[in-house]
Amino acid sequence: MSNKLVKSALDQAGSGTRSVWSGEQVKHPYRATQTPIVASAAYGYQDIDEWYDVALGAAPGFIYSRMSNPTVEILEAKICGLENAESAVAFSTGMAAISSVLYTFLSHGCRVVSTKDSYGGTNKVFEEFLPRMGVSVTLCETHSHEQIEAEIAKGCDVLYLETPTNPTLKIVDVKRLVAAAKKVGALVMADNTFATPLNQSPLALGVDIVIHSATKFLSGHADAMGGLVCGSEDLMAKVRHYREINGASLDPFSAYLIIRGMKTLALRIRQQQSSAQAIAQYLLTEPLVEAVNYPGLPSHPNHAIACEQMRGFGAMVSFVLAGGMDTVKILLPQLQYAHCAGNLGAVETIYGPARTTSHVENTLEERLALGISEGLVRISVGIEDTDDLIADLQQAFKRVRTLSRENTDSLSCCTK
Ligand SMILES: *Cc1c(COP(=O)(O)O)cnc(C)c1O
Repeated sequence: MSNKLVKSALDQAGSGTRSVWSGEQVKHPYRATQTPIVASAAYGYQDIDEWYDVALGAAPGFIYSRMSNPTVEILEAKICGLENAESAVAFSTGMAAISSVLYTFLSHGCRVVSTKDSYGGTNKVFEEFLPRMGVSVTLCETHSHEQIEAEIAKGCDVLYLETPTNPTLKIVDVKRLVAAAKKVGALVMADNTFATPLNQSPLALGVDIVIHSATKFLSGHADAMGGLVCGSEDLMAKVRHYREINGASLDPFSAYLIIRGMKTLALRIRQQQSSAQAIAQYLLTEPLVEAVNYPGLPSHPNHAIACEQMRGFGAMVSFVLAGGMDTVKILLPQLQYAHCAGNLGAVETIYGPARTTSHVENTLEERLALGISEGLVRISVGIEDTDDLIADLQQAFKRVRTLSRENTDSLSCCTK
């Protein structure tokens, strides 16, 4: 089977087939069927002319693993297949990918337009590091497409989007904002971590650069960190050059784990988002829950846009608990099938309040200004059976009600 044949066949293939086969049509040493971990810092050459050609990029090959590595290249090919991208560049973490892409294209005097809701680390790059190097950043109300368009129209170099957002699951209309950005010649970047390539194809919606924290759903097992950036060959050549010099390259062990995880991406996401929909609907019926955020609910303010630009609504749900942090502290320890942890996108269900997860870097005042209340809990729905996850929540809520009744009873008997 030639690489070309596999490539064109894969263009027609479904996401499950792509998850398995994209990037994997390479012949490995020893006829291994699995991607080898090439743990070599450098690559040796007897022939100085050949070495020089490879170093200049005139011949294929590898020189030094900060610049490129065979295992990492297979991961880059795999995400290209899933995002339908010409080229991709892998980084050591999602934040390395995000900051490196921003620093590749921004310099003193540039202007970025983005939204108030974005991953906490990204928000810090916008508020703390970019202004320090003379880049002005305007963060708009995420729900106000009019305000975002007005800010873009004033002129900007980069429009940075994240949809759905972390942790409030807001949706922005990608096509609409891309149209506004193209009018002023801005480069559009989108963080596709929450949607995954299975549910949303930002490049097809007109975005120039797609970014993933591969630590999350792509890897899927919470045992490796990485970041991936995709786009045209021209743009990625610039990003690759930045990585080569600034050095946040991905190590081959993590690349291997992410490749292995990505083979089950479609299978996992289908199960996880079908449970997420059921859990979101259940939470709507729970008296202790004040609000539920999930783009798959018809009550979500941008459900129609989500239906338009997404093929599925993802595995992230968040909800606001009555009683704020006090109730959060009682509810979370009652759950059996749950890690309480600061990550997401794994096979296990993970719960966490924004205070210790997405917005751990922010102060209480900053979180409240972003509309993130202390009772907000984020769920990354895992691959467990849907009924078990709902039963687990039901017993936990029941326990919270009993405990708070006991508390009130003991309080009232003390005051008697
Ligand atoms: C986790 C996350 C990041 C950062 O990725 P790391 O791999 O933790 O550096 C960026 N964006 C989103 C939406 C995330 O969830």
